[in-house]
Amino acid sequence: MTVTHPAPPTRSPVLTLIEDPAKMHEVRRRLRGEIGLVPTMGYLHDGHLSLVRRARAENDVVITTIFVNPTQFGPGEDLDAYPRDLPRDLALLEQEGVDIVFAPAAEALYPPGYQTWVELSELPRHLEGARRPGHFRGVTTIVTKLFNLTRPTRAYFGQKDAQQALILRRLVEDLNYDLELVICPTMREASGLAMSSRNTYLTPEERRRAAVLYRALCAARDAYLAGERDARRLRRLMQDTLDAEPLAQTEYVSIADLATLEEVPAQIRGPVLASLAVRIGKARLIDNLWLGTSPEEWGKTRPGSQPVG
Ligand code: AMP
Repeated sequence: MTVTHPAPPTRSPVLTLIEDPAKMHEVRRRLRGEIGLVPTMGYLHDGHLSLVRRARAENDVVITTIFVNPTQFGPGEDLDAYPRDLPRDLALLEQEGVDIVFAPAAEALYPPGYQTWVELSELPRHLEGARRPGHFRGVTTIVTKLFNLTRPTRAYFGQKDAQQALILRRLVEDLNYDLELVICPTMREASGLAMSSRNTYLTPEERRRAAVLYRALCAARDAYLAGERDARRLRRLMQDTLDAEPLAQTEYVSIADLATLEEVPAQIRGPVLASLAVRIGKARLIDNLWLGTSPEEWGKTRPGSQPVG
């Protein structure tokens, strides 16, 4: 007997690729309904696609951007080596039912004479911002430009880049953007390693060893769940776990206040971000877990999220 399954619902695979910012404005003016924006640097993996799927489920129109933003890379960082494969990305996005892909050239967004920057004063001082000077200025500038070009109803970002997501949430509030910023959970490989385009820098052996990042975070989380509230002990647990892996060179381990991103000196009294940055081989990897809250809960309860008065 032959069993036939109903065909899965298919969307018309019509994806519009836009490279010119003026064209993006023109197309956007004609769009109706709710618009979901998923900004990426391309070389897509299942982490990116989880954002795209959520955007697809929640909006009438989905715009994905693919842009390796030069202004968020410092001198000596991996701008030139950053993996790129636009045809593959477009095929994946078409399968996901994305309507529009905006993939401009660097010169189209930063033409000669460009001189306008968007910069937060406090949140970028810590963690990634402290180690990558100018990184978040590049991020907040490009995301502002993408918001202006696409005027989304909702914009989707990964918890994987927690400081980025918190900075952008602040930016949306501070600059009065009329949009909802959605922070989506980190997609992981079976080993626990957070998916990342930069994982392609790892050899298969290094990739296996890189699961130590998640193990270190879980050690802190488990201790926290068992009642440990001394931030120094949680940092020590993460560091000890990383030290047991000879290929891992720790850049930092952190237990930071989620509202300010300042290191918690001793007792934990509110929600914290457990995060770390580790070099393995040629890759610099970051990961994090949120303790005492989740992105959804945090969006509702963090200080400053309620209208005053
Ligand atoms: P990127 O291309 O690395 O700039 O990432 C584009 C978006 O995908 C950012 O909002 C990232 O936080 C998010 N993202 C990256 N990796 C993951 C992951 N493993 N799970 C969920 N989201 C991710």
